[in-house]
Amino acid sequence: MSFQNRMAVVTGAGSGIGRAVALMMAARGASVAVMDVDEATAMETAQLVNTAGGRAAGYRVDVSRAGELDDAVTAAVRNLGPLEIMVNNAGVLDGYFNVDEMDEDVWRRVIDIDLTGVFLGCKRALKEMLPRARGRIVNMASVAGLNGTGGGAAYIAAKHGVVGLTRQMAVVYSARGITFNCVCPGPVLTGLRQHSQQILGPGVPDMSNRGVAVSEDQIRALIPAGTRGSVDDVASAVCFLASDEAGYITGHSLVVDGGWRAK
Ligand code: NAD
Repeated sequence: MSFQNRMAVVTGAGSGIGRAVALMMAARGASVAVMDVDEATAMETAQLVNTAGGRAAGYRVDVSRAGELDDAVTAAVRNLGPLEIMVNNAGVLDGYFNVDEMDEDVWRRVIDIDLTGVFLGCKRALKEMLPRARGRIVNMASVAGLNGTGGGAAYIAAKHGVVGLTRQMAVVYSARGITFNCVCPGPVLTGLRQHSQQILGPGVPDMSNRGVAVSEDQIRALIPAGTRGSVDDVASAVCFLASDEAGYITGHSLVVDGGWRAK
């Protein structure tokens, strides 16, 4: 699987799964535009790629703001080359609120980042990809995009939305040289709870112990493989869907969950 001479944009690449995707794609030859709302971590990922002999640039972008995405993608194309791969990975948890407990503001912010952010990323990528009739779009959903568990109401609704949006785009655009897929990870140890807490601010409860997959005992009971996935497990799936080898796969939701959904 080679990404030689390909430019990839990866959002939410300042940490966790997005950083692993950026490093893995760069190791396979891609130039990577590392985008994150946390500028310092975006720059850190870009530096890691460059130190390892790859090519990357970091950009501060809030994916829920069309103008910021537009400017950053424009700069990335100018600096790194034509956009071949778009990975819409940035996301936040929602405090695991059920509907009766959730503030409208929290609902809107989570939908804005997790669903509208993916829509805006796809829209901006299509502006580059449709005229060239080539490209790969990989969106980060979740098992929570397929089942009614794994997050609160807003997170689950947003991730189901990502799966639906990806399918709709696959139906409409797949004849035009672009593929659209999602990855649906199960539990992976990252800073997601902590980062979501910081991004959403006061008004969401302490997330560190909420949810169905917090303790190792819960993981063993929930996941047939008995362990969490790693960021590289998820990055491998993203790389596959972004590769030439996956050219006839479109509209698919690739579950990477240690068997959780098989139950
Ligand atoms: P993470 O917190 O380590 O990474 C998410 C990154 O997205 C952070 O660097 C954060 O700063 C960035 N981000 C958040 N809001 C943003 C915004 N508005 N604009 C730009 N960047 C923003 O968490 P992660 O686990 O690596 O999450 C990556 C993706 O994987 C998310 O979409 C998440 O929903 C999904 N996911 C994670 C898990 C898991 O168990 N960790 C499971 C299923 C799906």
